[in-house]
Amino acid sequence: MSEEKSLNFLEEIIEEHIQEGRYKEIHTRFPPEPNGYLHIGHASSICLNFGLAKKYNGKCNLRFDDTNPVTEDTEYVESIKYDIKWLSDAIGKTWDHEFYASDYFDKLYEFAVTLIKKGLAYVDDSTADEIAATKGSTTEPGKNSPYRERSIEENLRLFEEMKDGKYGDGEKVLRAKIDMAHPNLLLRDPIMYRIKHAHHHRTGDKWCIYPMYDFAHGQSDSIEHITHSICTLEFIHHRPLYDWFIEKLEIFPSHQYEFARRNLTYTVMSKRKLLQLVNEKHVAGWDDPRMPTISGMRRRGYPAQAIVNFCDTIGIAKRENIVDIGVLEFHVREQLNKTANRVMAVLDPVKLVITNYPEGQTEELDVENNPEDPNSGTRKMPFSREVWIEREDFMEEPPRKFFRLGPGLMVRLKGAYIVKCDSFVKDKSGKVTEIHCTYIPESKSGHDTSGIHVKGTIHWVNMATAKTAEVRLYDRLFKVEDPSSEEGDFKDYINEHSLEVLPSVYIEPALATAEIGEQFQFLRKGYFCVDKDSTQDRLIFNRTVGLKDTWAKEAKKG
Ligand code: ATP
Ligand code: MG
Repeated sequence: MSEEKSLNFLEEIIEEHIQEGRYKEIHTRFPPEPNGYLHIGHASSICLNFGLAKKYNGKCNLRFDDTNPVTEDTEYVESIKYDIKWLSDAIGKTWDHEFYASDYFDKLYEFAVTLIKKGLAYVDDSTADEIAATKGSTTEPGKNSPYRERSIEENLRLFEEMKDGKYGDGEKVLRAKIDMAHPNLLLRDPIMYRIKHAHHHRTGDKWCIYPMYDFAHGQSDSIEHITHSICTLEFIHHRPLYDWFIEKLEIFPSHQYEFARRNLTYTVMSKRKLLQLVNEKHVAGWDDPRMPTISGMRRRGYPAQAIVNFCDTIGIAKRENIVDIGVLEFHVREQLNKTANRVMAVLDPVKLVITNYPEGQTEELDVENNPEDPNSGTRKMPFSREVWIEREDFMEEPPRKFFRLGPGLMVRLKGAYIVKCDSFVKDKSGKVTEIHCTYIPESKSGHDTSGIHVKGTIHWVNMATAKTAEVRLYDRLFKVEDPSSEEGDFKDYINEHSLEVLPSVYIEPALATAEIGEQFQFLRKGYFCVDKDSTQDRLIFNRTVGLKDTWAKEAKKG
């Protein structure tokens, strides 16, 4: 697929660098902060960084950006690694090294000392409020801190005391000495280190000072000899600071490049917001199948390859944009169409009796598993006098183009026979309870000599051998395309009807042995996969996606 595609702007940059001979090897990294689960936006970044390393025979590191001890956790580290492994199988490249920014705490401390010795960093006793108040604005220069002219010796001593735990949280910070009138506010003596007496998930209680993102990220890139440090657009104003630290420290010149965040319609994509959905129980967890997380999508049945194909075809942009979730669903369908076996399940059942089929007789029909996959073989499906069909496949008074069942109408039962509806039974409330048909014995699928042509084929499940299962139908988690840009709280736009549970649907007996995660096409109903909540006695299926975009159709009508 990529052969025909034109280069994206990062590939153009890299190819130029290769032609100039600027680097021996291209080296990228994916730098998640272990403070939440990965989402589809991260998948874009993973595909990009791992994909570039693969394309140019380079390397890609996985680096946990774990400089903020308070929000980080090993649970997140494990989930992130699991998700990346899952995606990288589909990308065809996994990480070359696993690193942690916290592994560099000693090195970063040394770097800070180097800058102090060069007169380029100082310890400031100002409070956070005082620092904010002297920052200035885009139209006003900031003011120098009264502590800015401390001697190098004093700064070295104070910084060491900060490290040794002599001061409380917020009592002092280490700042870079750049320019309090700099047009870019981020360069007005930015904070490099802050005091935080907090336990870190890897370094424990060794440190009570932690580097800020801007002081940790570029230096970590440089330590790892990252050639192309790719991040999202909001860091564009940080780039001069990224370059300043590297230049003053005279270390390997990593460079930062920015691309636009991946956004999707009908969802939110910030970890902070996703965490709220989890903590306030709007969803069942990070891997709830309605979540835009990788784990949610996997549980819902999205194949890794579909996510990778989606990211590859959308590519990357320089400007913020929002992609229709329908595009992702298209790739999910396209992938599952190739791989998922077709089976029959009746979600809203009504009984069909074949009055001329012998009572007590059952035959085993051979049904193909997947017409798209010649190697998928066939399976046996029991068929007898009473079967379940979908309630919506029958109408008492069918309109002209209704090619299903109604009085006098004929239809094929998939993989079985043609049946003709003779009559039906209703209960007191007027609900249809039974449909009576006769079947054409010569019309058996694959051996049809009846000469009868019918337009419709419907799915069914043999009553006597049917198993029951729970089905979970999912809809958009939000009622509006871009909940984050609406007025008020994004949670005001949650779709309360995003989950519909069908407690007891009928499935064919072959499905009884289906395993967690296994994917199927329920004929005419969509793609489904076995949920992890399933037990030995009770299978639960998630609807991954419908067969076609019913949503778009509904929306047009509405
Ligand atoms: P969030 O805003 O969801 O908390 P983040 O940027 O803080 O995201 P990180 O763990 O720091 O999350 O992200 C790891 C990498 O993934 C970064 O390089 C970041 O630029 C990239 N990334 C995060 N969100 C997106 C997105 N929506 N689209 C593309 N890349 C993203
Ligand atoms: Mg981040």
